[in-house]
Amino acid sequence: MTNQLNTQELQDLDRDHFLHPFTNYKELNRKGSRIITRASGPYLWDSEDNCYLDGMAGLWCVNIGYGRTELAAAAQKQMSELPYYNTFFQTAHPPAIELASLLSELTPAGLNHVFFTNSGSEANDTVIRTARQYWNLLGQPEKQIFISRKNAYHGSTMAGASLGGMSAMHAQGGLPIPGIEHIDQPDWYKEGGDEDPAEFGIRIARQLEEKILEHGESRIAAFIAEPIQGAGGVIIPPATYWPEIKRICNHYQILLVVDEVICGFGRTGKWFGSDLYDISPDLMPIAKGLSSGYLPIGGVMIADHVARVLTEEGDEFAHGFTYSGHPVCSAVACANLRILRDENIVSNVDSVTGPYLQERWASLADHPLVGEARGVGFLGALELVADKSARKPFGSPGAVGAICRDSCYENGLIMRAVGDTMIISPPLILTKEHIDELVETAHRSLDQTLAKLTGMR
Ligand SMILES: *Cc1c(COP(=O)(O)O)cnc(C)c1O
Repeated sequence: MTNQLNTQELQDLDRDHFLHPFTNYKELNRKGSRIITRASGPYLWDSEDNCYLDGMAGLWCVNIGYGRTELAAAAQKQMSELPYYNTFFQTAHPPAIELASLLSELTPAGLNHVFFTNSGSEANDTVIRTARQYWNLLGQPEKQIFISRKNAYHGSTMAGASLGGMSAMHAQGGLPIPGIEHIDQPDWYKEGGDEDPAEFGIRIARQLEEKILEHGESRIAAFIAEPIQGAGGVIIPPATYWPEIKRICNHYQILLVVDEVICGFGRTGKWFGSDLYDISPDLMPIAKGLSSGYLPIGGVMIADHVARVLTEEGDEFAHGFTYSGHPVCSAVACANLRILRDENIVSNVDSVTGPYLQERWASLADHPLVGEARGVGFLGALELVADKSARKPFGSPGAVGAICRDSCYENGLIMRAVGDTMIISPPLILTKEHIDELVETAHRSLDQTLAKLTGMR
């Protein structure tokens, strides 16, 4: 069907029938969707045959790049053998078992059990169910409260959006649900003012301690955070932040949940953000890079001491999804993890291409629009500002970011705008030549953005 319809026809049908996620409908109705038809390596093509370097790896997920036929072959083989069976009621199948065992090898020490879901949002719903069940089984059912952070992203279900700290999402959904508290985010560039970054990191981390004391340790189930905030704008905490969070979590009897949905599977150059910051999570939600987005699958890694309570103290855990550990998704995730590991993709980001990307990316800080260029591994952000030395933002937040994003598209690069913060999270398979192309196109797009702004003045 898609091969026979032209762009206009596809856009009309799309507008008439398809309600998109996270999309401004008025704008879509005016402009029509950009329709992506094929992909290879780090490149995408649209229905007009324009080519783009995908600076976002889809939505932070296509870690191995597009077009890997090994994953298609794994799916076809599994579909022919056993396309579906459930894992409820003491049943299992080889692909889910194999994936669970591979994950316990690759994830940080002490995480040797996984509960499978279909997405990161479901993983975070599972986090709440699991943590509350854990405290119930330990005879402390009053430990219910989750502490999270403003501007965090933990998904879009009722629980995921509530754990998240996105005010626009809360406003539309009557959220957060009860039992979820938010502290400030460690965003020194935007919220640190005159404070030294190291001091700022400690002060913001100590809000966790204050929150625990405010409600009482006996009522707090867990603290949840992304190692580096992704959707919030690639916010890299000051070096003092995670050590102080770890100190607080060790001191008080609460679970530490590290949301690795973006940072996991090589994004930072380590297998997990927890490896980068030397964190030992009690619960660790995963998704996105787990299958490089080829099929939907997520999960929660569960630390040994938590798994022991669930499996030895508990009877039935009344939780699960029809497709938990879906055989085809599991087989594809296994093939993806083997590619990441056996082709040294993660270690290459750590020692070769990650440092090269960061060196080239940092050079963008010389541009008159860029107040800060920051990044880790294959994550990067540019703060577009009105005044660099004063870290002064533009008057109407998001307008300049949107101009820059559109310039990038015109120049064949997909870069996302979070307000006036430009972000990248490209496939982990970029070569140095791809990285040169990315940074040079970003630079040209910044120049065009500046020219448009000057023209508007
Ligand atoms: C994307 C994301 C989620 C939600 O995952 P979905 O698969 O979209 O439900 C959760 N946490 C983080 C950190 C994410 O980036």
